[in-house]
Amino acid sequence: MSKFYEVRKRDGAARIGLLSLSSEEKRQTPLLLRVDSLSRGEEVIQVIHAEDTHFNDLFQDEPWNVPRGTVLLPEVHPLVTKVNEAIPLLLVDYFVLSFASALLNSPRDFVRRIIDARNAIPPDVALWVPSIATAENAALLFYMGVDVIDDMNAVITGYQGIYQTEEGSIPLNELEDLPCNCSVCSSLRVDELRGKESKEKALLLAEHNTLLLEKEVKKVKEHIRAGYLREYVEMKVRAAPFLTAVLRILDLDEEDFYEKRTPVARNNCMMANTMESLKRIEVKRFATRVLERYDPPVRQVLLLLPCSARKPYSLSPSHAKFIEVIERYRGYIHELIMTSPLGVVPRELEVMYPAAFYDIPVTGYWDAEEQVWVSSCLRAYLERNVGKYEQIVAHLSGTYKEICSHVAGDLGIDVVYTCEEDEEVTSKEALNRLKERIAALCGDEERMPGFEKKASMLKAMADYQFGIGAGSELVSRKEGERVIITGKFPLYKLSVNGDVLARIVPEYGLLALTVKGARRIRHFLASYTVHIGDFLPKGSILAPGVVNAGEHIRVNDEVMFIGSKAFGVGRARMGGWEMVESRKGVAVDVREVEEIEQE
Ligand SMILES: [Zn+2]
Repeated sequence: MSKFYEVRKRDGAARIGLLSLSSEEKRQTPLLLRVDSLSRGEEVIQVIHAEDTHFNDLFQDEPWNVPRGTVLLPEVHPLVTKVNEAIPLLLVDYFVLSFASALLNSPRDFVRRIIDARNAIPPDVALWVPSIATAENAALLFYMGVDVIDDMNAVITGYQGIYQTEEGSIPLNELEDLPCNCSVCSSLRVDELRGKESKEKALLLAEHNTLLLEKEVKKVKEHIRAGYLREYVEMKVRAAPFLTAVLRILDLDEEDFYEKRTPVARNNCMMANTMESLKRIEVKRFATRVLERYDPPVRQVLLLLPCSARKPYSLSPSHAKFIEVIERYRGYIHELIMTSPLGVVPRELEVMYPAAFYDIPVTGYWDAEEQVWVSSCLRAYLERNVGKYEQIVAHLSGTYKEICSHVAGDLGIDVVYTCEEDEEVTSKEALNRLKERIAALCGDEERMPGFEKKASMLKAMADYQFGIGAGSELVSRKEGERVIITGKFPLYKLSVNGDVLARIVPEYGLLALTVKGARRIRHFLASYTVHIGDFLPKGSILAPGVVNAGEHIRVNDEVMFIGSKAFGVGRARMGGWEMVESRKGVAVDVREVEEIEQE
């Protein structure tokens, strides 16, 4: 439990927090501590060593007036273990990871030590990894859940005559110019710097190295704020094989760690620019939910379509053409869009995050790993759902078509292809062929009623967010009810007998519930319920007010909250596990609340 540290914003495992040094001075994390100001006692921050007799103080709340922390030894100290789920034994604001320089021996040690430390300590306490931060590795450290670094490495390498850059380090003697605009580098030339006497030269180099690190910390903060840290880290790790190896090991071995911490939706675009992007939690989570939380509407024809650059796909010029051609038979057709890196996107989920929020470099060339991944998604979908359709039509060309025919061949499924070799999917010939095949397969015309189109989308979105069953409970008409869906795509709003139950929030790619909507499907919301104490919340629910919370809740999830005095809905600001384990920070932003009348 912390007293002077509070996490304010999360992006995966990375956080922006506030460390209160005094009532006037608050420092933001990710934080760069200056080692010399610490040793001069200028930074009001207290480190208690395990061997100190004062260690017992860490059980006491009383003498705790400035941020305090203790050293986390390689073996996680037994006293760190928690008394119960809610109360950790040690009362500190941060932990310092000891022997951090040993982390640099192998990428696997680096991952193990930091992730184990982050897992062992409570989420509302900061983690300080000392002595190893550089402008090259800082983003990765914060991405792993580190909150505090220092300039120890920057200073030591300065004394060693090493000039650091954003992508690595170079001995000063090998530089022809100073590739930097900091106050040191812009005030003198490289030969002037080299000519300084050794102490002064060391100090100047240390100052440059520290300023560079300071700039990097500011950049990381901005990326966390904007929700782009993953993209930035994928870019940064390219500087060194060690760092790239760390990211790949994290993606392979720490899926649970990141799944718990990755927001379920964001209001920014996910850029899948590298091979590692395929391994992002957002990508894996979407693929998993399409299999586990999606039930296709009953239609006789499955139509496979390629993705478009513009999202949602329906608003793209290519999809407008597809839709125009199939419009009169749409009541028979279920549309499934093939794409990298998401695999397959059912039409009903096209506005969800990340389906409407990703961008990839388009070259027409798919690398082997991308093909394997998209094939596996299509295969899994067909294995699960193929029996629900009478016929499969693929309006695909190039690699999409190759992947489809490969998968269909393996599974022994017949597919009708409507594009010839080297034919564009939007060519007149291909579109005409699609129209003829569809007409021949479907027979009589059957347009999709507007209500059904909108309802199937709301149903699929509710299932995707809360689990199968929630969707049909939400949209299906019960006796005496008048169910209507208003609004222009994708701003649909569901009302029953005049009361709004849910609406699509396209900015986040989510469905938002009203109190009435939550009441209607409350039996399906058990995993998304936050149980709160005996109070009526106003703008937000703080972590100490949370009694229990569903373990599936992730940042930005729609949640229902219930206590003896209140029932309401809101958006989660931290994961359900974090709400339970934290004693500080906002757990839920309240959107609507109703007072429960006391008997
Ligand atoms: Zn500089």
